[in-house]
Amino acid sequence: MQTINSINEMKSIVTSLKAEGRTVALVPTMGSLHPGHTSQIDAANEKADVTIVSIFINPTQFGPNDDILKYPSNLELDLEICKSHGVDFVFTPKTNAIYPADFSTYVDENKISSRLSGLSRPYFFKGFATIITILLNITRPDYLILGQKDVQQTAIIKKVVRDLLFPVNIIVMPIVRNDSGLAWSTANHYLQGSQKNEAIKLYQSLKIAKEMVNKGITNVDRVITEVTHYLSQSLKIRISYVSIINPETLDPLRVIEPGQSLLAVAVWVDQIRLNDNIIL
Ligand code: AMP
Repeated sequence: MQTINSINEMKSIVTSLKAEGRTVALVPTMGSLHPGHTSQIDAANEKADVTIVSIFINPTQFGPNDDILKYPSNLELDLEICKSHGVDFVFTPKTNAIYPADFSTYVDENKISSRLSGLSRPYFFKGFATIITILLNITRPDYLILGQKDVQQTAIIKKVVRDLLFPVNIIVMPIVRNDSGLAWSTANHYLQGSQKNEAIKLYQSLKIAKEMVNKGITNVDRVITEVTHYLSQSLKIRISYVSIINPETLDPLRVIEPGQSLLAVAVWVDQIRLNDNIIL
């Protein structure tokens, strides 16, 4: 495994790989790797000849009230995890190399980005689409591996790739959860004491909805009301949104179509924002 900091070096490695006819998969991350990330790495290894994991805490995804310096980071441990999962290259560019002082071009998807989290975090998806575009241009992967956990990010990148004709196949990996059902997330690092038990309720609420649909309930309002009621019983939880949507367009649905409708939920547990989703 090689760790590459330089954009030019990463580009020339990719050029050589392509000349040898080898396929490349990119797993873009912000580090603090957990089993959600490693399932993506394993998928990349299976799909392509060469796996590149990028580790870059992207400043353009952080808003004025987010503290980027508090974002968890442990490069040494991440490198060990990558090595043990057979990663070929870890790409760790410097912030000022990706965003030089005169940087002024952004990728701004305008439809899907305005939904769900886009209402409260308008900068976020523009920053995300921009960094993914830059990483695609540097690594020119055959496969881009993303996670269902961040369904809005994934839907936006699919749209950007389609609209701007990037020659890449997107693979979306299912959500990986711990034994309690909590989806692995870097935000879980911030959970302390009883907040962990509160966070588990997020997945419980998804299961309640799934059971309702399994019993034949397809009325969106009834399911959203039940999920909202369950979550609002917790004094520590504040709901950001509970939405039943088309998983590709994120358009709100009137009727649940089993197997094709997505329930997306975001909450605050005290000051920690968590999101999760499930196909109903
Ligand atoms: P991040 O490092 O948080 O930016 O996440 C990098 C990638 O990992 C994104 O494509 C996420 O959707 C994916 N991811 C994060 N958590 C999970 C999870 N619990 N299961 C599967 N994929 C995940």
